[in-house]
Amino acid sequence: MPLSRARCPACTLPLGDPPHPTLVVRCGRCGLTSNVAVAADGTPAAFDVAFVPNKIVGWFAAARVATAQGAPGVAVGACSACSTPLTIAYDAPVVLPCPHCSEPISGAAVDVLVDQWPEPWTKVEGGGIDLEYRLGLFDDKTGITAGCATCGAPTPPNDPAVRCRACGAATWVVRPDGVRVQLGARVNGTRGGRPFNAVVPIGHAEAMLRRDAALGSNDRSGGALLGFTGVGCAIFIALGVVGILAIVLLVVALR
Ligand SMILES: [Zn+2]
Ligand SMILES: [Zn+2]
Ligand SMILES: [Zn+2]
Repeated sequence: MPLSRARCPACTLPLGDPPHPTLVVRCGRCGLTSNVAVAADGTPAAFDVAFVPNKIVGWFAAARVATAQGAPGVAVGACSACSTPLTIAYDAPVVLPCPHCSEPISGAAVDVLVDQWPEPWTKVEGGGIDLEYRLGLFDDKTGITAGCATCGAPTPPNDPAVRCRACGAATWVVRPDGVRVQLGARVNGTRGGRPFNAVVPIGHAEAMLRRDAALGSNDRSGGALLGFTGVGCAIFIALGVVGILAIVLLVVALR
């Protein structure tokens, strides 16, 4: 939707240009109010989406909880104080004035904004792993489903249920446009040298990411340990040189 609105309907100039209007969004966790810069084409202007693994685990956990409650809303960024996703309800009215002529682009948040839930990503490398983790927003018409974000039970696209039969959490959210959507996790890259591409329930992805990040960092600390050994050798050799010098000096002094 925002792509087709990339140019202003009134003045035809690009809507993504600065100055960017701001949306006032309150963090649902710590209560901090943020002014989020959002271009009039609906794209948040300053959201840094390259996350470290720990931060994306928190992002996934928030997506799991929001999905289970059946109201993920549209994410526009992360709270600068606590990293919690800043979200706006699908049907909340949003007005973004054109940066050139001030013509307002207005509508429901889901239609006007580019949802940032799937944007943050992280990469885990080391220990035979080279994987990128991010969320995906799946629409049940595509036939791709991730499964229950909470317990991982399957969520067939042809099943009219919007709650998990196993744990009762919401599995599908019906957007105002009638489309059923679900957040899941995408894991892409290689594992043990083989291609690894999967769509997994968010809860499973959190556990998988924690494991992979630990394997990756073990691999890295292995490298650090080698470095340490190298330094140790250098010290040993240096001490040896000092020792030889001392003996030489002693021999010279005894003469
Ligand atoms: Zn916060
Ligand atoms: Zn305009
Ligand atoms: Zn479940």
